[in-house]
This record gives sequence, structure tokens and C-alpha cells, in this order.
Amino acid sequence: MNHKANIRIGFSEFSRKIYSENKNKVLNELNASENDWNDYKWQLKNRISDAEELLKYTNLTREECENIRKISEKYRFAITPYYFSLIDFDNPKCPIKLQSVPSVEELDDKGQLDPMNEEQSNPSGKITRRYPNKLIINVTNACPMYCRHCQRRRLIGNFDKNTSKKYIDESIDFIRDHETIREVLVTGGDALLLSNNQLENIFNELSQIDHVEVLRVGTRTLATLPFRIDDELAVLLRKYKVNVSTQFNHACEITPEAVKAVDTLVDHGVLVRNQMVLLHNINDNKYCIQKTNEELHKYRVIPYYLFHPKDVKSTQHFDVDISKGLEIMKHLEGRTSGMCKPTYVYNSPGGLGKVPLVPMENIVSDENGYVFTTWENKIIRKDFKK
Ligand code: SF4
Repeated sequence: MNHKANIRIGFSEFSRKIYSENKNKVLNELNASENDWNDYKWQLKNRISDAEELLKYTNLTREECENIRKISEKYRFAITPYYFSLIDFDNPKCPIKLQSVPSVEELDDKGQLDPMNEEQSNPSGKITRRYPNKLIINVTNACPMYCRHCQRRRLIGNFDKNTSKKYIDESIDFIRDHETIREVLVTGGDALLLSNNQLENIFNELSQIDHVEVLRVGTRTLATLPFRIDDELAVLLRKYKVNVSTQFNHACEITPEAVKAVDTLVDHGVLVRNQMVLLHNINDNKYCIQKTNEELHKYRVIPYYLFHPKDVKSTQHFDVDISKGLEIMKHLEGRTSGMCKPTYVYNSPGGLGKVPLVPMENIVSDENGYVFTTWENKIIRKDFKK
């Protein structure tokens, strides 16, 4: 049986039908045109962000709406019309819906607001620094869509706010003063919600610091707002040799619109890597992870990380046991190309850094050497070096 064939992909006839029906409903309701739809500013201005609005398009019950209203008072929600139109409302476990529409499970307060201790790893400005040679600048709290599993949901607040120039300047001064820093990740929120001019100012300053060798941006726009990516942005990223780190969590997010955005970046020479999050009921399935990474590979996105979910407050319903992640990694062995295998990592609590997780039963040692188990369960030996 071909299990992978059962995984919904963004290019399938079924997905395109859902998208087109939902999209038409939204366009009619907002009296908008195809040009509006493809305009990322229109998408941002028309985000679906309250329970009453959801009722216009969905068959949610009054009770569900009331719960969504309650949750959104604690944790804001907003969905771009584009991402919203990918939802299969007939499937209660639709991965797009579970990632974007608040669920009653978020009222469970278990978990921590800042499990990675980011607030305590802030030496200056809006920096998070966990390693000697690389750090993050948070340039905005805004995102096109507020993922229900977000590790930084404590920063989202009730309104979008870009980091002030004062904090950006302080952050850049800190980097200038610390020669060990060779890599800077500009992120948020979603870094690509800054204008091209704002981004250029930041990249320009950073690129003049001799010891900064690598620039990256963190963005989920490829999945949630692909219309943000255009030639002008791609040329800008290429000019400063900025790599893109993105987040696709399920193959149904990899749509023709998303791939057009990827093509625009890659065709201009911008490297795009995926940092997937392992999420219960969304992708904690070996065939789903395999298919999603194969789709990414096919469309020239490098599968980079598979993050174990963090212990974030009100997101415990997405938690997965590490044994499940290891089982998935073991499954990928030999069944897909090495290029489709991300590194599975656990982020140590308290900001102590990433720990790669590998299925250990593949290798054991005895008094003479190592015993390996291949992906087909064949046993082979390799003696210690004499
Ligand atoms: S795009 Fe990233 S920062 Fe924004 S809500 Fe989603 S996971 Fe959080």
C-alpha cells in the first residue's frame, strides 16, 4: 500500500478545489478582485481575525465561535485570506486549520511562556544570543498568520509593532563590538513583514561589519503569504547574500503559489532552507514527514531541521513523545534521499542550545568494534581501528 499517496499535497486536484471555492467566497464577501488577492498588502489588511468573521465562511457552531473569542482574548489570531482558503473545513484534523484557527485546547495553561529563556539571553537591543558565534535580532512582533504552536506567542500581543530604530541600532552596535559573531539571523515575528527599505537598511549596516560572514532571515511568508515574495525582494536578498529560513510543516502547504515564491528566490540565487516543527495531529506521521520533505526537495527547498516541539504555554496539545520523532527519523533512513532528511533536534530548555536526536539502535559497540543495523535490518560489523 502506498501510504504516502494518502498525504494531502498542495498541488492535488482536491486541494486546488478547496482553495478555489474558499477563495471565491472570500473575494465575493469582500467585493475584491484577483489583483487584490495577489497583493500582499491587501492580504494583510484583510486578515481574518475575529470569531464573527469566521462564521461568514464556515459552519462553525456558536459554541466553537465563543471558544475562539475567549482564546483570542489571550492569544491573538489572524489568518491571511490565502492561508485561510487552504482549509478543508470538512476535515476536523485539517493541518492548515489546526495550525491557524484557535482550538479550545489552548485554554489549558500548561507549559511555559518562555521555555527557551529568550528574555534572559538578551544582552542588548532586541538580540537573543545562545551561542558565541551567532545570534538573532527580533525586528518585529508581526506575522501574516499567528501559528497556534508559536514558540514566541508571548511576544505577539494585541497589535503589530516593528522594533524601534533605537533597538535595531543598539543590536547592530552590539554585533559590531563582538568579533566572535559570524552569523546573524534577522527574524521576529516574521522578518519579511518589514518593508524592503527597512530590510535594506539593516542588511546594509550588517554587511559592513567585517566579522559578520552570513546573514539569514526567518520568515513563514512562503507558506502563509507567498505574494510577499517578488523579484524586487529577491534581488535585495541576493545583493546582501541573505539566506532564507522558512517553515513548512505539511505537504498541503506546498502549493503552486508557495512554489512560485520559492522559484522567485531560488532563481535569483537565494538559498531557502526549511525548519519544520514536529506537531501532534499535523505531521507526527512518518509518511507525512517523508512526503513533505520530498515535496520540499522537489521544489528546491532544503530540508534543514525537524524541531521537536517546545514546552510552550497553551500549546501542549501539539506535543509529541521523542520516541515518535526517532521512529520517523529511522523510517526516513534508506527510504528517501539523504537530501530529504532534516536533522531532528531538541532545543534544550533554558536556552542551552540544540541537541541533535538520532535513533541509537542503528549502532551499538561490543569489545571488538561496532555493530550496525541497516535500514533493511541487516547486521554488519566494523572493527575498532587497530
Ligand atoms: S510565523 Fe513564526 S513567529 Fe510568526 S506566529 Fe508563526 S511560528 Fe510564530
